Order: sequence, then structure tokens, then C-alpha cells
Amino acid sequence: MPATDHKPRLGVWKFASCDGCQLSLLDCEDELLRVADAVEIAYFPEATRSHIRGTYDLSLVEGSITTAHDAERIQEVRRRSRTLVTIGACATAGGIQALRNFADIDDFLTAVYAHPEYIETLSTSTPISDHVAVDFELRGCPISKTQLLEVVSAFLRGRRPVTPAHSVCLD
Ligand code: SF4
Repeated sequence: MPATDHKPRLGVWKFASCDGCQLSLLDCEDELLRVADAVEIAYFPEATRSHIRGTYDLSLVEGSITTAHDAERIQEVRRRSRTLVTIGACATAGGIQALRNFADIDDFLTAVYAHPEYIETLSTSTPISDHVAVDFELRGCPISKTQLLEVVSAFLRGRRPVTPAHSVCLD
């Protein structure tokens, strides 16, 4: 990531997920601030800021795409992000909610909801990389706090992260 005259702006975005990977990030907030040396957490609704503004030097994306609205939203996140990293099995592979990909979504809707007609959802759960270009994938359920710190530190310093091969995808 090229040097800039402002603090690196970090965005943390949630799609269909259980929030567990974001909790890993919250769990290491002190280390994150130290590693990134005054990073600006510019968008992180689960923790602090929830107003979308401008562009983000690094975006961490949790969760999969399960609605038409989210399919549009991830396009905006990509446009606003210099570097986009997906975190966790939901974002990198579709998550447990991708079980719907092998079944009839209407069967689930009628079994779970009293009024399925009010539910707007896609018939599939797909990883973020099916929708936009992804710069790096960090796998896990949840992700490793240590690996997350390495990924954030590396991208903010303009180098590739060093993480175990089984937990990342560089494609
Ligand atoms: Fe939760 Fe696992 Fe998805 Fe992370 S990858 S959001 S821990 S279900």
C-alpha cells in the first residue's frame, strides 16, 4: 500500500455472518492500534463508526452474499476500497449458510418463517470473490487473531502477509 499523507483508513464491513470474525478483531483492538501506528478506524459499525464516507485504505469484509441488496452493497465497498481482504469462512467460501446452495430455498423459508412472503433472499450464499476482486483471503471459522494482526499490519505497511498456506488464498 503506497504511503499517504493521512492515517490509513480502515473499514470493517459485515455481510451474512455470525459476527464471530469481527469479534476476533475487537478482541485485538489494542494490538491493532499499536501495529498500525495510529490507523483510523473509519467504518466499523460493530465497534465505533457507522457512517460511510470517502475511501478506505484497507477494507476487511466478513460474511457472504445472500441478498440482492448485499450484492449491490459489496460493489460499493469494492469501489471505496484500495485493498479488500475477506476474513473468515463465510466471506471466503459462503459459510454454513451455503448449505442452501444444495437445497430448495423455498423449503427452508416455509419451514422457518410464519410469513415467508416477507423474506427477500437469494437462493444461494456465495463468497465475496464471486462478486468483486479480492486482494487477499484469510480463512478460518473464526479467523485467527494472530493471523488477522499479521494481515492488517502487512497491508498497512505495503507488504504481503506471511500466514500459513492452508489458511490463505492468494488467487
Ligand atoms: Fe462466524 Fe465463522 Fe462466519 Fe466468522 S467465518 S462470521 S466465525 S460463521
